[in-house]
Amino acid sequence: MNIKKQRTNSATRAKIYSLAAVVAILLALAPLPPRAVALSLPSDTVRVGLYYGSNALPSANLQNSVGYGYDFGYFDSDRKFVKLAEYTSGDSISMLRDVNMYYDSTNNAYKVGSTGNTVVGCFHIQFNNGRSSYADAVEAAQSQGIPNYFIKYVGGEFHVCSGNYTTAAAAETAMANLGFGGNAAVNAGTSQTISVVSTGTNRVIFEFDSSNVKLAVRPKSSGKALTWFKGYKYYGAFQYNRASGGDLTIINFVLMDDYVKGVLPYEMGNTWPLEALKAQAVCARTYAAANLDKHSSYGFDLCDTDDCQVYYGTNSANALTDQAVNETAGMYITYNGAICTTFYTASDGGATESVVNVWGSSIPYLIGVTDPYEADVASQISNYAWTVKYTPQELTTRLNARGYTCATIKSVAITSTTPTGNAKEITLTDVNGKVFTVTNGDRIRSAFGVPAIRFGVGGSTPDNGNSNSGASSVYVLGNSGTISVNGDLFVVSANGSIESVSGGLYALSGDDVVEVTYSADTSTGGGSSPSSDGKVDGNFVFQGFGRGHNVGMSQWGAYSMAKVHGKTFDEIIHFYFTGVEITYADGTRAI
Ligand SMILES: [Zn+2]
Repeated sequence: MNIKKQRTNSATRAKIYSLAAVVAILLALAPLPPRAVALSLPSDTVRVGLYYGSNALPSANLQNSVGYGYDFGYFDSDRKFVKLAEYTSGDSISMLRDVNMYYDSTNNAYKVGSTGNTVVGCFHIQFNNGRSSYADAVEAAQSQGIPNYFIKYVGGEFHVCSGNYTTAAAAETAMANLGFGGNAAVNAGTSQTISVVSTGTNRVIFEFDSSNVKLAVRPKSSGKALTWFKGYKYYGAFQYNRASGGDLTIINFVLMDDYVKGVLPYEMGNTWPLEALKAQAVCARTYAAANLDKHSSYGFDLCDTDDCQVYYGTNSANALTDQAVNETAGMYITYNGAICTTFYTASDGGATESVVNVWGSSIPYLIGVTDPYEADVASQISNYAWTVKYTPQELTTRLNARGYTCATIKSVAITSTTPTGNAKEITLTDVNGKVFTVTNGDRIRSAFGVPAIRFGVGGSTPDNGNSNSGASSVYVLGNSGTISVNGDLFVVSANGSIESVSGGLYALSGDDVVEVTYSADTSTGGGSSPSSDGKVDGNFVFQGFGRGHNVGMSQWGAYSMAKVHGKTFDEIIHFYFTGVEITYADGTRAI
């Protein structure tokens, strides 16, 4: 019995073990479902530098556009607004360096100095006992009947202050006259102090002095805040600090999608096709996310110029550009779960370029692609086809100025092109027989002053992706416009066989049969020079298409893909960025 039971148990165990082994093997062999990995974004709030460095301002006005009043506080390390105080008696305020300043009514700006009718003095009577909250300090000031009081946040406490004077002596006299001696002292602030006044007056509303946190001002609004600042309307809130103890560094704290709404009309245009705008919105959002530490030395993420992305708030935004942002809200371009650096360029002239051939480092999704779309809208692209000419002396002087040591240039040739036909290596020879090369897209553009790297020299032009550039052009009517046919043309016969068209091709026009001029487009892209020395009539001639660095998405290509070819924003993105995904911040696929 025992023996039998033991055997049974042993056999059962063996079965269990073998079943467990099979399950383990199956689990090991089964493909795991892809797991979404959240993108490493510090916050959904972007810090955009508006004025900083040598452009910092002594004073800055704000005007609440949709609400009334302001909250004062600071942004914590998670970029969340922490409220300290508020102002509910006006919609126009000005932040000033806490030095003597006067109001220049002609320019509606405060300027350093004590002249003029309205002067904000930097000397104040400050009461000794700091309070732990703004409300406590206000109550103290009111219960004691302090004239012209305001609250100053300093050292983490709230102090009642009174008046503003241009000299310490004037403040001392006022303090003596008011009988505050012993409880208060005259204080002139520090190199970090910022005064907030009611615009156009010398009425101080609030003062802020902290070495730990920076003054933030958030417009009060029942809905989405929108505030005028220097002629532009911005979403979000503002931060002010005196970076080196001088003028104000001004930073807009804005939600990512609101930031993109302020970029789109300036980086693309507010009348472009919706799908192109959506592609641009995803690119702009992704570019921002990839560059959140670009200007960290100034305390913000991105500047508002084309050094980063042009951003002027909402003035030029419209329903269409907002729709493009809303319909792609929160979407980023990723590669292997990481945010991409999504470069874009105005016009690629027929092919984009791998980043390694332009800036020298390889990025797997920034691979050059031949662009059959852009040329279809070439007539709308300003300066799409270009010619740059130099006399030998002009070119020599230009190269010398850029650090190339050479005598008068005798010949220029493109000696290597990239797989997509862009110029990769230019070989020059001077009159003394010195031979040298210029490589990499950025250096080539700079050395020769050409708008793009898609060019030929000495009378040749590159293929711009449009067979219309020669006599070999055929267009067919697609659902959404004409489509250029490149390469061999095929027709479907009545019995369904597909025949290559050779010989004459005819089409019916309204009242006639016309022959269509056609031959297969066999051009292979830029490169060889018809003239061996790169000259035409004694001048070096560079002829090409497009403008920009040729890396990433062509904006005009996106325009054509959307407008002429009916492509969607994700098709545009996948065309220009090789092997990418479009995902949300939590890593899940968006489309
Ligand atoms: Zn920048």
